Amino acid sequence: MDIDGAPARARRSLKFCPESNDLLYPRENRATRRLEFYCRNCSHVEEAEPEDYCVHVARIKHDAKEQTIVLQDVRADPTLPRTKDVACPACGHQEAVFFSQSSEVGMTLYFNCCACGHRWREQV
Ligand SMILES: [Zn+2]
Ligand SMILES: [Zn+2]
Repeated sequence: MDIDGAPARARRSLKFCPESNDLLYPRENRATRRLEFYCRNCSHVEEAEPEDYCVHVARIKHDAKEQTIVLQDVRADPTLPRTKDVACPACGHQEAVFFSQSSEVGMTLYFNCCACGHRWREQV
């Protein structure tokens, strides 16, 4: 996983197991319908803090049929950086997950609003 160059915030949003130091993965607790983080190498599970809901597991509700990352709700992806230097064109919220993809026409930045899930892109 390459997170070099990501804003420091993105790095801090990653959680690590206090027992085994492994990366914790988000999942939805189906019994409580709450977000929690679990360790793949030991039995450690912790409940998400309110601020973690920015990376809520919306992906679970999304069909795996969606082909590319461009179409996915990437708010649940803890490996992607987030930025507060944007304003969502749909709701005005100023935090979004972003990633870039390059094509023949150049580099495109894709944003995914943390509040409403709206997606937009900017040519750079
Ligand atoms: Zn562990
Ligand atoms: Zn929004």
